[in-house]
Amino acid sequence: MDSAINRPIYLDCNATTPVVPQVLAAMLPFFTDYFGNPSSLNHSYGWEAEAGVDRARATIAAAINADPAEIVFTSGATEANNLAIKGVAESYMAAGKHMITVQTEHSAVLAPCRYLETLGFSVTYLPVGPDGLVDLSRLERAFCSETILVSVMAANNEIGVLQPIGEIGRMCRDRNILFHTDAAQALGKIPLDVQAMNIDLMSLTAHKLYGPKGIGALYVGGRGVGRRNVDGRNVGGRNPRVQLSPQLHGGGQERGLRSGTLFPPQIVGFGEAVRLAMDTQTIESERLRRLRDRLWTHLSALPDIHLNGHPTKRLPNNLNVSFEGVEGSLLLSQLQSALALSSGSACSGANPTPSHVIKALGRSDRLARATLRFGLGQRTTEPDIDQAGSLVVEKVRAIRNEAIFFSKS
Ligand SMILES: *Cc1c(COP(=O)(O)O)cnc(C)c1O
Repeated sequence: MDSAINRPIYLDCNATTPVVPQVLAAMLPFFTDYFGNPSSLNHSYGWEAEAGVDRARATIAAAINADPAEIVFTSGATEANNLAIKGVAESYMAAGKHMITVQTEHSAVLAPCRYLETLGFSVTYLPVGPDGLVDLSRLERAFCSETILVSVMAANNEIGVLQPIGEIGRMCRDRNILFHTDAAQALGKIPLDVQAMNIDLMSLTAHKLYGPKGIGALYVGGRGVGRRNVDGRNVGGRNPRVQLSPQLHGGGQERGLRSGTLFPPQIVGFGEAVRLAMDTQTIESERLRRLRDRLWTHLSALPDIHLNGHPTKRLPNNLNVSFEGVEGSLLLSQLQSALALSSGSACSGANPTPSHVIKALGRSDRLARATLRFGLGQRTTEPDIDQAGSLVVEKVRAIRNEAIFFSKS
């Protein structure tokens, strides 16, 4: 690692981020010294591990204005999304079998929804406008008496668009329909408040904000213990609201919602990453926004390019651009040695099918393929941006010139 020279500039922070030294330092003692099982409550080894887990739980809860008892640790946002969507489906199917989501969601939301369709649920996949935002009047019309859940992401992982989750939360709460949001990209970048935004379920992950991979959480509103049926009637429990069927059965950890021995080093790392992000969110977001806008200024030297996603309602660290008249895979391969970035989500990076997100904006297959996602992060510097900007401009010009040359010969 230390000997690695000339590694490409990393601009794929919407795919993942490095673990920062402070996070790693917080994690290490929990591998070796405080190695106890946090569920072993008969001795101090267990208590030490439990104390670390509790601290992290409190930090993460505070970051989204939740109660610590409402945080369920999972292996990441994929598992949190699955637990939220399938858990609600199983718990509330007597009340209705209809769900609403959006065409531009992450596959960890879309795939569980498609799976539920095979079990007899119906799912409305709302379209988005050319700016990537859901149209609230379409959502309004999609509600029906069978609707039990709405799942709309807070921030898109490809185009960075911020959906109006506060408004959606209010619409759902007014109708007593549960609202889930995938906030994997939003945590640490924009303010999140589960109370003010009327969010019932929220998926989080550590590795998009300088924490370790393989750890995340689901916020489950109402301290996950009570019982209230879908028309809001309280049938017992402490401040109850959301009922969830667990997707992993076993020792009953995480109040029965997610069995399996907790992984304290990961959880402690997640908590420390959230703590650091909350300390620096405002200043760092401003810095990233300036760098991102600087990159856009560089690219604007090119004609026939399109910014994907709303120009201002977007994550500060994300820029997604389509280049007309360019073969996307060729452009990526020519940039590879200098720039680490992707054409869309990491999950679809290896296959050439055009991004479902860019397609949902109304772009052609060809243009969707000729798309670059720039994900800026803590380590991104102004010289990085200037280098990346001029390199992309140079390569796009060269590919376009070559295309003109061949079309003439
Ligand atoms: C990264 C990401 C996920 C998947 O999270 P994992 O923790 O890697 O499972 C889900 N949704 C969104 C929006 C993401 O950006």
